[in-house]
Amino acid sequence: MTPHELIKDSNRIVIKIGSALLVNEQSGTVHQDWLQSVANDIATLIEQGKEVCIVSSGAIALGRKDLGIKHTDRPSSIILEKKQAAAALGQIEMSKAYSAAFATNQLKTALVLLSPKDTEERRAHLNARATLLTLMKNKSVAIINENDTVSTAEIRFGDNDRLAARVAQMIGADLLIQLSTTDGLYTADPAQDKNAEHIPVVENLNEDILKMAGDAPAGLSTGGMKSKLEAAQIATNAGVHMIIASGKTNSPISDIQRTTIFTSSDKPISARKKWISSHVKAKGTIIIDDGAVKALQSGKSLLPAGIVKVSGDFDSGDPIEVMDKNGQKLAIGLTTYNTNEARLILGHKSTDIADILGYYRGDELIHRSNLVLQA
Ligand code: GLU
Repeated sequence: MTPHELIKDSNRIVIKIGSALLVNEQSGTVHQDWLQSVANDIATLIEQGKEVCIVSSGAIALGRKDLGIKHTDRPSSIILEKKQAAAALGQIEMSKAYSAAFATNQLKTALVLLSPKDTEERRAHLNARATLLTLMKNKSVAIINENDTVSTAEIRFGDNDRLAARVAQMIGADLLIQLSTTDGLYTADPAQDKNAEHIPVVENLNEDILKMAGDAPAGLSTGGMKSKLEAAQIATNAGVHMIIASGKTNSPISDIQRTTIFTSSDKPISARKKWISSHVKAKGTIIIDDGAVKALQSGKSLLPAGIVKVSGDFDSGDPIEVMDKNGQKLAIGLTTYNTNEARLILGHKSTDIADILGYYRGDELIHRSNLVLQA
């Protein structure tokens, strides 16, 4: 399979852009012409009906000049609070650059700052997922970066490589494209070893492959191949194919050349179902009426109207069990509403939720994308 074919076959795509591509190392400013060519490529994908979002680094690289940090200082030698301040300064410049590039294509951009734990903790995960899906449905391009101000750990090497994979998993993307300074994985570091051979496809990300990765090169790049391979592991386990492609020239997506493709044997939807059912400890139980049982079995969501009884103590985003009136377990799913809210809206029409609660998080107690029927 060629990268062009893979892109053509994918409906939902996450594109990761690294600092070394976005930012001119010497001047600490955005490569605006390059970014414009990327935005044009993405606009074409959106025109073809695809949903696309971007995970971009570059905030620290852009903000550092405002704090007097020299481009020759290694990122790892800068104290964390200065990096966080640089990220806060640079994020605005970065957002402006993206919105200008997409504006020429009549597309709006949105800024989403996430912590890796937001993609894991279920409640934050569901909110972030819903936000991103809504933005994509409205043809707005989310520019996602790590929320560096509140990163409690060090801003670690290549965090955004992994964050991009987690985002791809969270939104059920078909494909993650890692635009990089290299055109893929080699059997050894090609800068060191002239016999290093390029690997076009990785179907099985085993120990031998993992051993091939080196650390990040000097300069603005922080991740290197190691974090790309960690990202590939997260992505392919979640049913997401991943491409490492060179972003060194303009129009790196429409003109994609040599790459490494990491194929996944799973589908995003079945990987997501596995993720949901892996939360074996349900925090509560919902008993539903016969009409709701039928709806569930025909693949529909669980609405409050069909709930007969709520028990347990659960929060929004927690896994709960769904049973019929005879106590037969039917499904497990992640709930939109917590125990108290579920008790209040039980038996009511979804159109009454806003009046009853004073707010509204959706029609469903469990949306079908968060529901797994028992075999
Ligand atoms: N969040 C950091 C930034 O915007 C980048 C982290 C990374 O490169 O992985 O500068």
